[in-house]
Amino acid sequence: MPELRGLGVSPGIASGAVARLAPPPRPPADEVPGTDVEIEMARVTEALDQVATTLDERAAAAGGEAADVLGATAMMARDPSLLSSVRSLLEDGRPTAHGVDAAFEGFCDVLSQAGGYLAERVADLRDVRDRTLSVLLGLPMPGIPHPGHPYVLVGRDLSPADTATLDPAEVLAIVTELGGPTSHTAILAKGLGVPAVVRCPGALALDDGTPVVVDGSAGTVLTDPGEQTLADAEEKAAARRSLTESGHGPGRTSDGTAVALLVNIATVEDARRAALTDSEGVGLFRTEGLYLGRRSEPSTAEQEATYAEVFSAFAGRKVVVRTLDAGADKPLAFVDVPAEENPALGIRGLRVSRRHPHLLTGQLAALGAAARSTGADVRVMAPMVSTPAEAHEFVAAAREAGLPVAGAMVEVPAAALRAKALLTEVDFVSIGTNDLAQYTFAADRMAGELADLLDPWQPALLDLIASVGEAGAATGTPVGVCGEAAGDPLLACVLVGLGVRSLSMAPSLVPAVRLVLRAHDLTRCTEMAVAARCSDDAETARAAVRALADTSVLAVL
Ligand code: PEP
Ligand code: MG
Repeated sequence: MPELRGLGVSPGIASGAVARLAPPPRPPADEVPGTDVEIEMARVTEALDQVATTLDERAAAAGGEAADVLGATAMMARDPSLLSSVRSLLEDGRPTAHGVDAAFEGFCDVLSQAGGYLAERVADLRDVRDRTLSVLLGLPMPGIPHPGHPYVLVGRDLSPADTATLDPAEVLAIVTELGGPTSHTAILAKGLGVPAVVRCPGALALDDGTPVVVDGSAGTVLTDPGEQTLADAEEKAAARRSLTESGHGPGRTSDGTAVALLVNIATVEDARRAALTDSEGVGLFRTEGLYLGRRSEPSTAEQEATYAEVFSAFAGRKVVVRTLDAGADKPLAFVDVPAEENPALGIRGLRVSRRHPHLLTGQLAALGAAARSTGADVRVMAPMVSTPAEAHEFVAAAREAGLPVAGAMVEVPAAALRAKALLTEVDFVSIGTNDLAQYTFAADRMAGELADLLDPWQPALLDLIASVGEAGAATGTPVGVCGEAAGDPLLACVLVGLGVRSLSMAPSLVPAVRLVLRAHDLTRCTEMAVAARCSDDAETARAAVRALADTSVLAVL
């Protein structure tokens, strides 16, 4: 039975029939120029307008973070300079679809050369191009399929515009040729709680309707499975469901060491949904998620109202709010930072407050007011803290705003290397393994091709986490993890062995992490941590720890 191999980024097993994203349209090779440029321009204007209107409608239906992204994409379709570029190409004698294609490509080149956030918008711009060409050429709209039954979604990669219309009840699993462990596809799949395999060569060659079994833990896609394989997959999936659904309550190891199980959220919508998960609260509220696509800074009153909604959804549970992490992979239009050669190493996260102190003080004031009005258990933390002095200043600003519990994210190797000094300045720390991996390995977290370096099982990354864990024990400061690593059940045991006492993850991952933690005592977690750090690479570390895992939970690993 043919097997495709990729990177498993969202655990679980599912079987079903493939449905592919409709391929993007290409301008016909034999297209001839229109006879009247004005008539052709009217067609192009109408097509762009239709695309922008559809995106706006989808934004209104989607709500939350997706709405902001879709709204920003609709604005690209309405950019007047795009139309003038098409006009000059048509006046030069280009056929209409070719002219539109070339105009979009010109804009994509400019964005790519700008680098950073702008370069990441190229996928959205190409999405607008494909939709516009489909309208002009009378072809089916590219994007999410609607086969009329639940399906395994297969595509090159998923853009935010694709996934906003995705019906979670219809999607059994996701397989993409591109993407990486922190790609949009991976985060979306975990959010939906469906298995996903990314960087899977050969996926696009699968025909619609092909039956497949997707194993999001092993990173495999079996095609044309026989009856026995299907039955085995169903049995494995059922075993996984019954194991994970059996647990509830706070996180702890088998010998009773408390490990708080928390969720990551980015919007009010997320908060409402995530509040239904049996968790101990929010370990990472990514506040920039509220303001993606916003052109102007939200007023303090507006921020206060939004934060109060989130806090109320989690009444009685703790909420760790991260102050704005603008810049690099999370740009905000209203945060003015200089054009940078290398935004991931530039003015981002807490560093933005060097230029714009009011953004931080305004946000802290709104958070303080919302905490008071709701009586919620709110803690704040700063992103991208590099030195103890930065942590000191942040904590002082938080206390000034009436927020007594303040901490720092550890995402920069310098912070981990000097953890003891940093931890004496704060009430808690939370390790952001996504960025910590990026900066430890000098590997762009958006580069799927470097997924092996960004693997959170890399022993060098674990060494840095160990340094923070040791500092936590020495200073009595709680240490948590809120990067993607926290949601890997086996790695969660390693993290606990390294001194981590809270784990924050996508809500769908909480049950498996709870189950696996409860199957191991602290001594075993410590042995696992030693085994992982003694390994030479991520693969060996994973295998060494798996060999120490209790066999009762192998079905969820
Ligand atoms: C991280 O870097 O691990 C993290 C949790 O922050 P973000 O993914 O939002 O950068
Ligand atoms: Mg980060």
